[in-house]
Amino acid sequence: MGALRDMTLGELIAPEGHACACGRTHRAKLKYLMIGSGAIRFLPEALKAVGCTRPFLFCDGNTYKAAGLEAEAALNGAGIKYTPFQFPQGHVEPDEHAVARLREVFDSSCDCVLSVGSGVLTDCGKVLAYERGLPQVAAATAPSMDGYASNSSSMIENRVKVTRYNACPQAVLADTDILKDSPERMLLAGLGDMLAKSVAQCEWRISHIVTGEYYCEEVAALMRRSLLRITAAAPRLLQRDGAAVEAVTEGLVLSGLAMTFAQVSRPASGLEHYFSHAWDMCALRDGKRPELHGIQVGVGTALTLKILDRLRTLRPDEETVKRAISSFDPNAWEREMRRVFGGAAEELIRKEYSVWHKNDPGARMARFTRIRDHWDEILRIMDEELPDTAETIGLMRSLRLPVSPREIGITDRQTRDAFIRSRDIRDKYLTSSMLWDMGLLDGFSLK
Ligand SMILES: [Zn+2]
Ligand SMILES: [Zn+2]
Repeated sequence: MGALRDMTLGELIAPEGHACACGRTHRAKLKYLMIGSGAIRFLPEALKAVGCTRPFLFCDGNTYKAAGLEAEAALNGAGIKYTPFQFPQGHVEPDEHAVARLREVFDSSCDCVLSVGSGVLTDCGKVLAYERGLPQVAAATAPSMDGYASNSSSMIENRVKVTRYNACPQAVLADTDILKDSPERMLLAGLGDMLAKSVAQCEWRISHIVTGEYYCEEVAALMRRSLLRITAAAPRLLQRDGAAVEAVTEGLVLSGLAMTFAQVSRPASGLEHYFSHAWDMCALRDGKRPELHGIQVGVGTALTLKILDRLRTLRPDEETVKRAISSFDPNAWEREMRRVFGGAAEELIRKEYSVWHKNDPGARMARFTRIRDHWDEILRIMDEELPDTAETIGLMRSLRLPVSPREIGITDRQTRDAFIRSRDIRDKYLTSSMLWDMGLLDGFSLK
């Protein structure tokens, strides 16, 4: 096969998949993809491609105006019967109530789920389609996130943000005439989500060295390509330039494909996403609506780039690690876990002791040894993967994107907690995990 990095979107979604040098066959779940001006008019063709004759179309008040009307016109024009549902409220949360409502109103004579929306409704559609065992067609309304072509959904359960792996939409329609009119913050959120990808590739390669985690250079190269495409188009986003919106949307779809190919979110998310997850949890706990995912991720990326810049000036030191290992107090760790995560802490503590064992002194020393032995290579990876921090922040500022946690209402304490505890949320090796392994995390300044 040719290299994934050189393929067109059409070639990438070929149903037979791509046997890769990494040993896996990368297969997209997407059967139909249309990005561009007037794409929504291809809805009948998209439905046919996934074998659907009667879609269950759902939207909310905003997305109905943005794309629902045109979707209905396309269906009516082709004589396709469908069952519509519109959430009565303007803003829907991706939680158990929204999913329960969809279950209630779902018409079981329908043979596909047609979501008209961006992150929230696309994700709710994934849950419903997966439960029903039906294909999903996603009609996009904003270039705000990279989940249109991925199988994971970001849901809220019991006021806690969780990632659920469901089915990937089988068809995606992204009409740039619709997307370019989305609210400014949503137009920019996808860019924020994409800026994270440089950190993600960097941490992925480092984890491959330190923990032996699976890594695919082709998938990483695909992600770098989508990032380049998006940053080149970014300066024209605020003018709502159709070609720029198209480039960003293609980048977001490529990113979703890369996640599907790797079968994990690793190529798309790193420490910056853990800042975002932690800030979501804070907002939900305080009964507030979290800031948009991509906006938070952008802020998390700026912060992570600064952390990595400082990390590059340090060196692994065995005495520091030995001191950190001998002074580690599991009881104090548990207390901090409960303070930061509240009700969610017990499950995470249980996982650490029964599955992850990342705090085990022997495992920590073994990881440290690999960091020390490969430090030059780790520095080279940072040089290769990371953009210039000042340039990235300059680009964000020029687009009126928030850069610091305070600008989105996050306190220094919340940011510090998110940073220190990020390594405890999942068994994923992050920059914070490496700092902890080096004995440097607790004293690391975020100033
Ligand atoms: Zn591969
Ligand atoms: Zn994201």
